[in-house]
Amino acid sequence: MAYDHDISRCDEAVFLAEVRAFLAKALTPDLRKAGRRTLGVHSDISACRTWHRRLFNQGWIAPAWPAAWGGAGWSSRRKFLFDRECALNDAPVLFAGGLRSLGPLLIEMGTPAQQAKYLIPILSGDDLWAQAFSEPGAGSDLARIATRAVRDGEDYVIDGAKIWTTGAHLANRLFAIVRTSDEARPQQGLTFLLIDLPAPGLTISPIITIDGEHELNALFFDGIRVPVANRVGEEGEGWAVAKRLMQMARSNNTPSALVRRVFQRARAAALSTEGLEPGLRRRLAEAELDLLAFEQTELSAMPEGVPRPGDQTTPSMLKLLGSELHQRVAELAMEITGPARLPALGAFHDEDGDLADGARATAKHFATRAASIYSGTSETQRNVMAGAILRG
Ligand SMILES: Cc1cc2nc3c(=O)[nH]c(=O)nc-3n(C[C@H](O)[C@H](O)[C@H](O)COP(=O)(O)OP(=O)(O)OC[C@H]3O[C@@H](n4cnc5c(N)ncnc54)[C@H](O)[C@@H]3O)c2cc1C
Repeated sequence: MAYDHDISRCDEAVFLAEVRAFLAKALTPDLRKAGRRTLGVHSDISACRTWHRRLFNQGWIAPAWPAAWGGAGWSSRRKFLFDRECALNDAPVLFAGGLRSLGPLLIEMGTPAQQAKYLIPILSGDDLWAQAFSEPGAGSDLARIATRAVRDGEDYVIDGAKIWTTGAHLANRLFAIVRTSDEARPQQGLTFLLIDLPAPGLTISPIITIDGEHELNALFFDGIRVPVANRVGEEGEGWAVAKRLMQMARSNNTPSALVRRVFQRARAAALSTEGLEPGLRRRLAEAELDLLAFEQTELSAMPEGVPRPGDQTTPSMLKLLGSELHQRVAELAMEITGPARLPALGAFHDEDGDLADGARATAKHFATRAASIYSGTSETQRNVMAGAILRG
């Protein structure tokens, strides 16, 4: 695959014209509205499905996947330009665990049967994947997971509980790590499994977050059966598989395009506010500079499109920079819109059930608080980077 990191200006202009023409046609007003309304990690699910299918039909659903696996096979620069145009045009934010994390993992580590069964439905949008790693007693210290899978013939039988599973109520597949044996080190004895839903014995309970949304769930496994053929990697070696998955997830968890969306809301609010406090203007300008720097970092950080297997630092650095900048800009947008609207959250809906602007900025700020927790907290990212640097 060619990674023309520096496509010529002429190529770039042609590419951008093609992307803009497609977006002008394919992004209907209702899809743009869904994109603007996004609070959490994905837009309204029916808009997500429609947008996913349009990108799939266009051949652009997986810009970073190799063309041989159905991706667009674009350079990192083209992918960046495409994501940025989508953000600037309020495209829906996709439900993307399969596209961004599991698909690339299966390309690297899946069996031929798993690749044949799962990759195309990820691209087409027929399969939506949720990540079932965290448990009530295992978050940052993920190796402590206690959900147990016991081998029974050609199946594993799973009992236990998972928590904070984003989108499990919308997904038709789960990827999970489970304990298959008790070894001296908690990292040993873990196994990575793919679970098809609905699964008899699985209960999915909603968790409503502070922004009023239902994205999260608690899962209870009571004798769920999963075929051994659905194991990625060897039994007991799930920690290495999960670590690679987390590298994929962190490397594109908060891309600059996501921050750019919130930034353009903040800037529009600032431009329409008379007599905006000079301090807010200055902070907006500083945030824009940091966003530009983050965009440049992102562009040069992963020329291969996925993190290099041994590189612990780059995914954590991108996740840390992206999520903290995302929070900063969302907070600034709320301040610009007016913190006086804070008590209005949930009370000021227009006739479409939409939140009024001020309340929306407040809800977005609340939603973005989670950005430095999911996919590993900021402290975890700093620990990973510090560990890698100290080990040399
Ligand atoms: C909105 C949202 C979506 C999520 N989606 C998913 C999902 O789809 N799938 C999934 O599996 N999980 C998901 N999670 C769970 C998430 O990965 C965990 O919440 C996260 O890893 C932190 O774990 P914890 O909540 O158990 O907190 P803890 O691990 O108990 O941490 C509590 C605090 O202590 C700090 N801390 C812990 N250990 C250390 C250390 N060694 N050094 C320094 N500080 C430390 C943490 O940084 C944190 O501030 C989601 C969480 C949120 C909030």
